[in-house]
Amino acid sequence: MDGSTKTLATPVKMPLVTNASTQLVDQFGRHKHKLRISLTDRCNFRCSYCMPDKPEWLAKKDILSFEELLKFCEIMVHLGIQHIRLTGGEPLMRQGVVNFIHDLNRFKAHGLQRISMTSNAFYLKKYAHALQQAGLDDLNISLDSIHPDTFKSMTKRPLEPVLQGIAEALHVGIPIKLNCVLVAGKNDHEIVELTQWAYEQNIELRFIEYMPLDQPLHWQPEKVIIEDQIIQKLTAHFQIKKQQRQHDPATIYRLNNDYKLGIISTISKPFCQTCDRLRLTATGELFTCLFANAGTPLRDLLQKNDLSSLTTTIMDAVWHKKAGFIAHQQAPIRKISMHAIGG
Ligand code: SAM
Ligand code: SF4
Repeated sequence: MDGSTKTLATPVKMPLVTNASTQLVDQFGRHKHKLRISLTDRCNFRCSYCMPDKPEWLAKKDILSFEELLKFCEIMVHLGIQHIRLTGGEPLMRQGVVNFIHDLNRFKAHGLQRISMTSNAFYLKKYAHALQQAGLDDLNISLDSIHPDTFKSMTKRPLEPVLQGIAEALHVGIPIKLNCVLVAGKNDHEIVELTQWAYEQNIELRFIEYMPLDQPLHWQPEKVIIEDQIIQKLTAHFQIKKQQRQHDPATIYRLNNDYKLGIISTISKPFCQTCDRLRLTATGELFTCLFANAGTPLRDLLQKNDLSSLTTTIMDAVWHKKAGFIAHQQAPIRKISMHAIGG
């Protein structure tokens, strides 16, 4: 901690919010446009803020097939989803992901606007060209440090393949953003340096406040570096202008009038009022909130091909979406951590 005042958000009442209309709307008037799909819980990294030290992987038989996923995506696009993001675990560890992206592109004729991926980039050098050819629109890449030692202490893996993956994505022309989770005492001393590095490469960087979604009892409020602390550190080095908040979960700042920096401040300034996201786990559970204690299982209905029940079940689950972290501000009580729900 750097001695600056840290204020975690105080619970507030949910206002009624409406945005562009879809059939996926909750009791607070929040329409859903974005879907995140966890393709696998498996990951070659061991980021301490994300997963237990000794993860128990799902059995392969319990993971949705691409056929089931395509059926689900078709329904969701029909109901108004415009943006699908593939995540994990590590999505590049799922065999067949390139073909799946290729197949998803057919939904662009029916309202889907973007197909994105969030990856640790370890295998990206190998896959970047194929992903670009398959129709991936953009990539978010996790990069918690540009120092091999810090990087290894946070992820338990080497940095170099990740930097090579980033270079390759830029080379083949996939637009990228970088995600950095800040953990006090781990990488918060590198905020300025990482920003400078991303600034020089002109790659948008997003700092993410550390959320209580890892293994139970691991997260502590003292480990969170909040938006105001980040800005305070950067102020001495950049001219900074805050931008008007849009639907994006990140607050955007302009640095030196040209560079875009994002901060996702779930903890200090929750954005639940404008949340337009849904999540599907690798086993086919629909989570309407990252902080929900349970999801709605859809696999049986997908296997029965019962489209009418599926649509009703999905719309009902979305309608009952709770206010979110903004209302109760505590870690969810559930078995799965971030690597299984998909971030
Ligand atoms: N393996 C991929 C990656 O790391 O980019 C995709 C899955 S990961 C769960 C998705 C995102 O969640 C990453 O950007 C990661 O940094 C973020 N994340 C994981 N645990 C988090 C936590 N406890 N708080 C905030 N962000 C977290
Ligand atoms: Fe793996 Fe991504 Fe979680 Fe790190 S953040 S352990 S790379 S899923």
